[in-house]
Amino acid sequence: MRIAVVGAGFSGLALSYHLLLKGAFVDLYDEQGVGAGASGVSSGLLHPYVGEQVRRSQNADAAMEETRKLLSIASEYCKDPVFDCSGIVRRVTPKQRDTFLKHQEEYLDVEVMSDELVKIHSGIVVHSSSYLKGLYQACIEKGLNLILKKIDSTCELQTYDAFILAIGAGIFSFPGLEHLVLSAIRGQTLLCKWPLPPLKEALLGKGHIVPLPGGDKVHLGATYERGVETTLPCMETALRLLTPQAAVLAPEWKEIEALECRAGIRVVRPAHAVPWVYKMSEKGFALTAMGSRGLLYHAYYGKMLADMFFDREKDQWNLNSSS
Ligand SMILES: Cc1cc2nc3c(=O)[nH]c(=O)nc-3n(C[C@H](O)[C@H](O)[C@H](O)COP(=O)(O)OP(=O)(O)OC[C@H]3O[C@@H](n4cnc5c(N)ncnc54)[C@H](O)[C@@H]3O)c2cc1C
Repeated sequence: MRIAVVGAGFSGLALSYHLLLKGAFVDLYDEQGVGAGASGVSSGLLHPYVGEQVRRSQNADAAMEETRKLLSIASEYCKDPVFDCSGIVRRVTPKQRDTFLKHQEEYLDVEVMSDELVKIHSGIVVHSSSYLKGLYQACIEKGLNLILKKIDSTCELQTYDAFILAIGAGIFSFPGLEHLVLSAIRGQTLLCKWPLPPLKEALLGKGHIVPLPGGDKVHLGATYERGVETTLPCMETALRLLTPQAAVLAPEWKEIEALECRAGIRVVRPAHAVPWVYKMSEKGFALTAMGSRGLLYHAYYGKMLADMFFDREKDQWNLNSSS
C-alpha cells in the first residue's frame, strides 16, 4: 500500500510510524520540514487532565500508553533526553481541587497535596524537539521517504492508495476544507533563564513553567491568543501575558530574563475535546483538532488510523459522517 502523509508534526510522524510498522510505503510531505508547526514549539506537557475543568480525558489510559511507547522508541534514536517522568505539580482552584479529590479516589495517578497543589504522578515532560528528532529517525529506519514540498491540493495525491492530511494550522487555508468548523488559538512560549534552584517537576496552573535538562533554563508558557493567526512571535505580548502567570506559579521568581520567544497555532474544534478524523473522500482523510492535547492523542489516533487502513472494520469514528 502506498500512502501519503502530509505534515511532519506529532500527528504525521506518529501516523507514519504506525503505517510503516504495518508494511506500508509512506511518503511524508512537509512544506518546511520536521516540527515546523505547533509540535516544534510545544511545551511538552503530557498528562490526562488537560483543560480548566481538569476532567480526565477520553480514552486517557490507552492514549497515554500509546504516547509512552513512541517516547521510548524515539529515545532509542536520540542521544538527548526525550522525556522526563518526574510528574507535574498543578496549582488548583477550590473547584479543581474537589474534582481532583474524586480523581484521587478513582485513579491512582494523582495526589492532592494541599488546598492549592495537586501532583499528577502520571505527568510527563516531553522534550519536543528531541522527541521529533528521535521519532523521525525511527521512521527513516523503517523506510520513510520525507519530501519537502507544500501540497496545495488533494489532486497531487491521487496516485496514492490513500492519503492523510495532518497539517496542523495549514488546514485553515487548504482548498476544499473551508467548511470545517475549527478555530485557531495562537500560543507563545518564552525560553527563560532560571535563577533559582532547579525545579524537580513542571509547574502547571493558568500557565506553566517547564524545567529543561541542565536545570538553568525553563519554558514559560503558554499564551492563549484567540483571533491571532500569525506565527510570528512577539516577545512583548508574551511577557505581558505570561508574567502574571509566572508570579502565581513561582512567586520567588522576581525577574524574568527571556532569551527567546516562539509561537504556534493550536487547531481547536469548538465544543469537542478530542481530535477529528474527517473523511474527505474514499481514500483521503484529515487528522485535525489536536488542540492542547497533541501529545496525549497523536500516537493513539495515529495507531487507530493505521489500523483502519489495514482493516476497514476497525473504522471506529463512523468516518462517513462529517459531524
Ligand atoms: C505554544 C504551544 C504550546 C503547546 N504546548 C503543548 C503541551 O504542552 N502539550 C500538548 O499536548 N500540546 C501542546 N500544544 C499543542 C500541540 O503542540 C499540538 O496539538 C500539536 O503540535 C499538533 O500537532 P500536529 O502534528 O497535528 O500539527 P503541527 O505540529 O502543526 O504540524 C503540521 C505540519 O504540517 C505542515 N504543513 C502545513 N500545511 C502543509 C501543506 N499544505 N503541505 C505540506 N506541509 C504542510 C507544517 O509545516 C507542519 O510541519 C502546544 C501548542 C502551542 C502552540
